[in-house]
Amino acid sequence: MTESAPSIASEPARKRLIDPYLRPITYLRLSVTDRCDFRCTYCMAEEMTFLPKRDLLTLEELDRVASAFIGLGVSKLRITGGEPLVRRGILGFFQAMKRHLDSGALRELTLTTNGSQLARFAEGLRAAGVRRVNVSLDTLRADRFARITRRGRLEQVLEGIGAALESGLRVKLNTVAIKGFNEDELFEITEFCAEKGLDLTFIEVMPMGDMEEATRLGQFWPLTDLRARLAERYSLTPLAERSGGPARYMRLDETGQKIGFIQPLSHNFCESCNRVRMTCTGQLYTCLGQDGMSDLKPPLRRHPHDDAPLREAIRAAIALKPRGHDFDYSRQRVAGQTRRHMNHTGG
Ligand code: SAM
Ligand code: SF4
Repeated sequence: MTESAPSIASEPARKRLIDPYLRPITYLRLSVTDRCDFRCTYCMAEEMTFLPKRDLLTLEELDRVASAFIGLGVSKLRITGGEPLVRRGILGFFQAMKRHLDSGALRELTLTTNGSQLARFAEGLRAAGVRRVNVSLDTLRADRFARITRRGRLEQVLEGIGAALESGLRVKLNTVAIKGFNEDELFEITEFCAEKGLDLTFIEVMPMGDMEEATRLGQFWPLTDLRARLAERYSLTPLAERSGGPARYMRLDETGQKIGFIQPLSHNFCESCNRVRMTCTGQLYTCLGQDGMSDLKPPLRRHPHDDAPLREAIRAAIALKPRGHDFDYSRQRVAGQTRRHMNHTGG
């Protein structure tokens, strides 16, 4: 993979990706590894068996897939995992993707990271054209952080965030709202973000993987409750802004902060879904909340020098994109649960 590889001309608009419900697909979340240096309790089991390396798409194959999507009109690419920054050679992948930013085909290149490696990578990511990063952080207490990530060090992540800010990257914290865990840190986290100039989005825990039902339900802290708590201290103004994604936004009038809320369970957001996700093995999931997928590895590997079959496979997959997910916690049971862990699909 080289930076001088030719950029792809976008296909004519009529050939762009439109799903059966007439939603244009313009956003690809690409998982580059299922591995991670953390084991967050809501994301992974303590003892994980990761995929053998040979099953993973190579960086060149990931480049071909990403480039094919961009050629079909995808204008936003988010790199995720597992932890994307633990994949060897990943900076080279970002550097290669820069050609699509330079050509104007790609509007945004970004990533979701646990922040542990950001101190090492921030400068390089910025040079590769990344402007914003999402960092997942659920607590500002070192002991809690060690507990929820099972092996992470809070200080390392805070250093990573500092390095990102210093490099000129905009940082957004993603905080999973977990009952009985970070409820009492709501204001602390909000104020930390206000002080440092970070954006903030709260996420409801989703029923991924095979955790026991009682544990899932016990962890669920509806964002409607969280927002009511915030409203005790701040004036919240709803913002009309939508990103084509699941987040809804509010402004805290006192601090001017914009806070995002991702509520897959207490609020359905599928009608405006513009995104698809690909795993590091080439499985394309057109809905995070459904188990149906299309395997892009065969067209990639059988036709190493011809991307036409790959593009056809992408189109065929988009034609199967379901209307939406079926997650439901009502009636005190977990419904619509998927069999995959989040690190498999990429968050
Ligand atoms: N390792 C990176 C990170 O943690 O940011 C990227 C991958 S991680 C799977 C992406 C996001 O998914 C993180 O913000 C994480 O908190 C979130 N996540 C993982 N499991 C989840 C679950 N069961 N419900 C809601 N969010 C979850
Ligand atoms: Fe790793 Fe991210 Fe999952 Fe935590 S949420 S275990 S950091 S992939």
